[in-house]
Amino acid sequence: MTSNEDSITSDDESSTDPADAFGALSDPLRVDILRALGDYHHETEFEKTIGFADLRRRVGTEDPGRFRYHLTQLRGNFVEKVNDGYRLTFAGAKIVAAILMGTYTHSITKDPTELDSDCFVCDDPAVATYENGNCVVSCANDHPLFSWQVPPTAAADATLPEIVDVAGLLARQGMERTLDGYCPECYHSIESEVTTEPTESPVFRAQCESCGARLIGPVGYCLLVDPRVAAFYRRHGRNLHEYYIWDLPFIQDEDRYTLIEETPARLEIDVSVADETLTAVVDETGHVVDYRPAR
Ligand SMILES: [Zn+2]
Ligand SMILES: [Zn+2]
Repeated sequence: MTSNEDSITSDDESSTDPADAFGALSDPLRVDILRALGDYHHETEFEKTIGFADLRRRVGTEDPGRFRYHLTQLRGNFVEKVNDGYRLTFAGAKIVAAILMGTYTHSITKDPTELDSDCFVCDDPAVATYENGNCVVSCANDHPLFSWQVPPTAAADATLPEIVDVAGLLARQGMERTLDGYCPECYHSIESEVTTEPTESPVFRAQCESCGARLIGPVGYCLLVDPRVAAFYRRHGRNLHEYYIWDLPFIQDEDRYTLIEETPARLEIDVSVADETLTAVVDETGHVVDYRPAR
């Protein structure tokens, strides 16, 4: 930071109580102010501030007193005053991005659509739905195949198969970030684990202590972002990412999982393409620690 820090006025009081913080967004004029600041940041360098009169003109409010009141309510958490100008804080910029993504405003629903895929439990067609930001794939018998959140901006003009593709992409990116140790939602550090129950197939889990984001899936998800597995598919002329995630045998087929150590958990997962099998060894955190060629 520059010496600007010294001149941030001391009446900036940020609230750490989320109810107070979001309460500050209760008036539409305040949301307009955030959007105007966001527009200004897009037009200029992010760090640049805008003066009171210019900002009021952009928002289009006649009454300076009313404008000042609402701007003051945003100070601290979402807007900061530096020298004689205003700019968004990190949280303010995130709120503007979320508003633009339609996270809080759009409710987009798509009619259920059959995909070119069958349920691996009952062979009925896989059916995708999209509602309240959730892309869900299941079958007529309600066998859950896959689900992931997709922002309304990505879904608005897309068909359901396209939304499913975005969901698959986000799932792979989410796995990659999680295995790198960062929450895919808020980038707080996150720990992952493989849990094994005698009667169920092993599950990969991660939950962010900071934002509560959760990632749960078959432990085969850990191989989705593994370079060696992708290369193995490529060597056979296939692209790992062209398949629906739930269609991949190493994800859906429990018989491919072999628990070789209970505590800490360590298991082998067989990945087969054509007649060749690659065995990946996954540790208790979901990281691939070894490979063996075909048995
Ligand atoms: Zn089914
Ligand atoms: Zn998080």
